[in-house]
Amino acid sequence: MGTTLAGFDPQRAFSLDGSVAVITGGGNGIGRGIAIGMARAGARVHVLDRDSRAANTVAELIKAQGFFAVAHGVDVSDESAVDAAMAAITSSEGRIDSLVNNAGLAIRRPSLELSLADWEAVLKVNLTGVFLCARAAARHMIPNRRGVIVNTASIMGLSGGGLYPNISYQSSKGAVVNLTRALAVEWAAHGIRVNAIAPTWVRTDFIAPLLQQPELLARIQAMTPLGRIAEVEDIVGAVIYLASPAAAMVTGHTLAIDGGFLAQ
Ligand code: NAD
Repeated sequence: MGTTLAGFDPQRAFSLDGSVAVITGGGNGIGRGIAIGMARAGARVHVLDRDSRAANTVAELIKAQGFFAVAHGVDVSDESAVDAAMAAITSSEGRIDSLVNNAGLAIRRPSLELSLADWEAVLKVNLTGVFLCARAAARHMIPNRRGVIVNTASIMGLSGGGLYPNISYQSSKGAVVNLTRALAVEWAAHGIRVNAIAPTWVRTDFIAPLLQQPELLARIQAMTPLGRIAEVEDIVGAVIYLASPAAAMVTGHTLAIDGGFLAQ
C-alpha cells in the first residue's frame, strides 16, 4: 500500500537491454522498423525473412548504426527451417527472450473467386507460420522460464472489413487473435507472455496497390477518428512496450494501433 514507486526506473522498464529478439518478416516494412527499433532499445536482433537479401540489408543497416543484428533466410511456413533457425540462435546466444511474429501476406480477391491454393497460401504463412515460430521459440524459452511473443494480427482480424474482399487474410488474422489468447493461457505457467498487435493500414509495400486508389484512401481516412493511416513508426513503440518489462502483467491481449478505427 502507499508505494513510493522507489524501485521503478522508467528507462529500465521500457528497455530491451541485452535481450535476444527474433523478428520474422524483418526484411521489409513493419518488421524492418521493429527490428531497427528493438535494436535501438537494446536488443540483440535476429532478422528472419524468406527474402534473405532483404534480411541481410536490414541487419547491415542495424550494425552500421552501432547495434547488434544477424540475418537469417527463413520461410516461416517451413517447419524444419524454423526449428533449425531457433536452435541456431539459441546455440549462439544462449537463449531467445522475445519473438515478434510479423511475417504475413494477403491475396485480396472476392471470396467466390478465391482458389483453395490461394486460401491455403495465406493461412500457411499468417497462421501456421505464427504457430510454428511460436512453438519453436517457446521450446527454447521454457527452460529459462521466461519469454515474450508478440504476434501481428490486424484490425481485419477484429472486424468484418467491407472496403474490399480479403477473406483469407481476415480469417487468418482473426485466428491469430485467438491463438494469442490460447497460447498466453497455456504458456503462462512457463513465464511466457503472448500478446498481439492489431494495426490499421500501415504505409508499406504491402498496401501499395491500395494507396494508389485515392478514393479508397480518402474513405479509410474518413473512417478513422485520428484521420490518417499509420506509419511504421506508429507500430514500433507498441511492440517494444509489449516485449519490455513494463508489460510484465500483460498477456493474451491484442492491442489495436488503429487511430480509433475499432472504437467506433
Ligand atoms: P511487407 O510486405 O512490407 O513485409 C512483409 C515481410 O515479410 C517481407 O519482408 C516478406 O519477405 C516477409 N515474408 C512474407 N512471407 C514470409 C514467409 N513465409 N517467411 C518469412 N518472411 C516472409 O508487409 P508489412 O506491411 O510490413 O506487414 C507486416 C505484417 O503486418 C504482416 O503480418 C501484415 O499482415 C501485418 N499488417 C500490415 C498492415 C499494413 O497495412 N501494412 C496492417 C495490419 C497488419
